[in-house]
Amino acid sequence: MVPPKTMVIISLYEKICNPKSNIIIVSKETSLCPCCNQRLSVYDKRNRKIIESDGTTVIYVIRRLKCTSCGKLHNELPDLIQPYKHYACEIVESELDGTGTSCPADDSTIRIWNKQFSANRQRLDSILKAEWIKCYKKQISLTLDSLLNRFMTHGTGWLTNVTQTNTTSESNRCRVHSILNQRS
Ligand SMILES: [Zn+2]
Repeated sequence: MVPPKTMVIISLYEKICNPKSNIIIVSKETSLCPCCNQRLSVYDKRNRKIIESDGTTVIYVIRRLKCTSCGKLHNELPDLIQPYKHYACEIVESELDGTGTSCPADDSTIRIWNKQFSANRQRLDSILKAEWIKCYKKQISLTLDSLLNRFMTHGTGWLTNVTQTNTTSESNRCRVHSILNQRS
């Protein structure tokens, strides 16, 4: 659930169907290295199999980006994919916040998602609170409340926002800041 900084998650992209029925993700963002904040260049492309909410499997073609400074490779994931998950982000999210009505994943997979999320709740909450402090240059007043809980009631897309806070470089956090602003 909480990956190291080995990927960038993008929100602005096009999905183009190619003759092999794969879907190519075409980024509209300029991402920076999550490790050292430097420029990334395209290294190669990879296929990612994702199970959609109707149970069908779609192959997305994503890019691997290489940092021009530290040389690390980062998968460029569209926000419909969660790091290390084979199911579409919306499916995982709706199971975690309890809004899901039907899920193509089996019970043991859903149990693993919930277990991983529970194990990381405190850490994710700390990361969000640290971001809040950085954003407002003051201590957080939410000592008894969980910022993560607030994100989870924000509606569709909260999981991507939380994941982005945890994985992307500071310059790519505008969406998180926009939610923090709405919550101030
Ligand atoms: Zn780097």
